[in-house]
Amino acid sequence: MLGRLARYMRIMGYDTMYPNLEISDTELIEICQSEERFLLSRDRQICRRYKRSMYMESDRIEEQIMQVVSLEKPQRSRLFTRCTRCNGILEKGSLNCREEFDPRKLDTVYHCPICGRCYWDGTHSDNILSKLNSLGVYNEDQGK
Ligand SMILES: [Zn+2]
Repeated sequence: MLGRLARYMRIMGYDTMYPNLEISDTELIEICQSEERFLLSRDRQICRRYKRSMYMESDRIEEQIMQVVSLEKPQRSRLFTRCTRCNGILEKGSLNCREEFDPRKLDTVYHCPICGRCYWDGTHSDNILSKLNSLGVYNEDQGK
């Protein structure tokens, strides 16, 4: 249910696990415990069962993002450092890149060492960045 938020969080560089549907609540809580993760959910039941959890009241992405940044302040330097598909930490260069990319963008290519997805200048749409900026997510960092 929070797939879109998970994508945004990865774009912002948060270490974000997005469980598949087969996983049970108990298993999910166990993973969160052992990896010391916060649990974000729109399911009140599961939030009650785990201390480091945050119930996501709204289904609006803007409000969800603001909840996340209130939990842990985002850092601009982490922007675009993770794979939106699998959470891998991106590495520079096209080695092991499993997708075609515009050769003119070679200098800006990053790839995910886990799933092989390729990113380059322009992949992460400007819309996303302007949304984050309009929410004031990085405001405190400006001018430093
Ligand atoms: Zn990946």
